[in-house]
Amino acid sequence: MPCARLEQNLAELGVEAGGVLLVHASFSSVGPLVGGPPWLIGALLAALGKDGTLVMPSMADDDDTPFDRAQSRCRAVGIVADTFWRMPGVLRSDSPHAFAAFGPLAERITEPHPVDIPHGLHSPPGRVYELDGQVLLLGVGHDADTTVHVAENLAGVRYRQPKHATVLENGQAKRYEYGETDHCCENFALLDAWLGDSQRRGKVGNAAARLARSRDIVATALTHLRENETVFLHAPGSCRECDVARAAIP
Ligand SMILES: [Zn+2]
Repeated sequence: MPCARLEQNLAELGVEAGGVLLVHASFSSVGPLVGGPPWLIGALLAALGKDGTLVMPSMADDDDTPFDRAQSRCRAVGIVADTFWRMPGVLRSDSPHAFAAFGPLAERITEPHPVDIPHGLHSPPGRVYELDGQVLLLGVGHDADTTVHVAENLAGVRYRQPKHATVLENGQAKRYEYGETDHCCENFALLDAWLGDSQRRGKVGNAAARLARSRDIVATALTHLRENETVFLHAPGSCRECDVARAAIP
């Protein structure tokens, strides 16, 4: 599949030149690309143009080894993400929940990023929201959409999962234990119906693609979370991860 076709697909879907774009991607779903993940990243950068900023998740695979933004791999979020942070000029936030960014707003987006509130306003997806960026889901659904966690944070939901992460502090490994606003995230798929026409759907290569403004995702999720704090959790007794999260509600 030629790179030019991917660029065309991205432009037709509505990726804005000069904008901020947060991408969650499954490389295998896009289709065979001779140039591998760098071709897909190149097509994304071409669609954004020189004034655009590309952002991808880049969180550490390993909770027990101190996070090192120059070394820690992120294969769990896919080969595109694990290729992107290694590319020249790409910045990476200094957190086990890291995101990587390239472009004029990369430094602002990868500013200090707290370990215990990984997806609040003071996080890369929170800054994409504040900067009125777009979110592109390539071959993945909203269950992979970290921007919904920004809405949970803004809504002040009380569910938490016990988590830990390891960071280096003054040369020493330090284990952080904290409660994270997380669960299985399957019900984030409700956003497909809730977003309606404010989400564009199409194909990029062979991948089913979804594109929406971060602000639309957050505002839509917030409306539903304010009506029902646990709208994203599975019914009690039907999902271990959601049950763990629910148990943290006082
Ligand atoms: Zn669940």
